[in-house]
Amino acid sequence: MLSVAEAKQRLVAILAPVAEIEAIPLGFARQRVLAADVASNVDSPSFSNSGMDGFAVISGDLMLATKKHPVTLEIIGDIPAGEAPQMVLKQGQAVRIMTGAPLPKGADAVVPVERTSVKSRDAQAPLPSSIEAYDPANPGDYVRRRGEDFSEGAIVLEKGSRLRSQDIGMLAMQGIGTVEVFRKPKIGLLSTGDELISVEEELKPGKIRDINSHTLGALIASCGCEAVNLGVAKDTMQDVESVFARAETQRVDLIVSSAGVSVGAYDFVRAAIEKHGRVDFWRVNMRPGKPLLIGGYKGIPFVGLPGNPVSSFIGFEVFLRPALHHLAGVLQWNRPVRKVHLADSIESDGRESYLRVNLDAHEDKLHAQLAGHQGSGNLYSLVLADGLVIIPAGVKSLVGGAEVEYWSLSDG
Ligand code: AMP
Ligand code: MG
Repeated sequence: MLSVAEAKQRLVAILAPVAEIEAIPLGFARQRVLAADVASNVDSPSFSNSGMDGFAVISGDLMLATKKHPVTLEIIGDIPAGEAPQMVLKQGQAVRIMTGAPLPKGADAVVPVERTSVKSRDAQAPLPSSIEAYDPANPGDYVRRRGEDFSEGAIVLEKGSRLRSQDIGMLAMQGIGTVEVFRKPKIGLLSTGDELISVEEELKPGKIRDINSHTLGALIASCGCEAVNLGVAKDTMQDVESVFARAETQRVDLIVSSAGVSVGAYDFVRAAIEKHGRVDFWRVNMRPGKPLLIGGYKGIPFVGLPGNPVSSFIGFEVFLRPALHHLAGVLQWNRPVRKVHLADSIESDGRESYLRVNLDAHEDKLHAQLAGHQGSGNLYSLVLADGLVIIPAGVKSLVGGAEVEYWSLSDG
């Protein structure tokens, strides 16, 4: 039986990241994976500009300014945002300037309007012929200097990053309206079991609705991949084979199935993989979800998750979430992990265990309380939970207050 860490590594090793690149409009680029570094084609800011509404000045003029002995400056003009000033400031002069407007030549600081004799901040107010300044100014005060954020040529976004909203802003700043990203991986999904009926069908004795294709499809989308539903196979070799065959025609990058991977008489998924592909390994030292099968079907990488809805969900979180980011071309993906404290003592069986919990903050600490019934078929525990805590392999019991790792489930 493999450890969780070893199984994760071996799964990533059989998945080659997608290499094909597509160009998409900026408005669709959030969550997509950038295919090349972006080097800035501008300094940012691209011109020195005012950080406040006020007056652009020569700081040296204000060395002796105080409330009692203000310095009077002659106002020679006005610079609204969007204008390129032509004037050159000389000793004793200032210009009215709006936030974001370019600093005129000669000026080296901005005095905010509230530190002058001018009462109105209104840009429509008539331009005063002179102002009094009450405080000294240092060179650079309230100036956003050209290039202070970054310089032309700087790598502002890296290949292999999954684009967030702020990254979209950076692309806009660079004038990139069409973005080169890796194509989305296609993940073929199949469910198996004679007991499964579709969402719309009416429940009959012995039947249950196919939950996993929907949960897993949504989880796949949450990793920026495309889920392709291959269908639900009955518990016959022929049916399982025909659903598997669709993976080839659909040209998926990975097949994910749920159920049918144990050693039961009806576990044809495993049999089909043995017949048409290869089994790399199929048992992992974890709970829930020990029967995890990893291998390939006719050259397409394959992951067989357990059938129980909680087991397949946790198998996805543990193995497939990191693997799908890798497959999608993300160069560095790290799950946000927190340390929390168990609210109560917990018994475990020595396998690496993933428990559904709710978090509660008191006395500066986060306490994790078990959420609902922890059986591997109890989907409601996942619905109730904020996240998972991990009881490491080899640990049989933990006392209340013990520190454990916590994964939030809010990304799913
Ligand atoms: P199996 O691995 O086929 O023995 O399935 C284990 C358990 O998971 C059984 O109780 C199945 O009914 C259940 N199960 C299998 N596939 C699904 C599915 N797609 N949706 C909901 N439950 C499932
Ligand atoms: Mg079954």
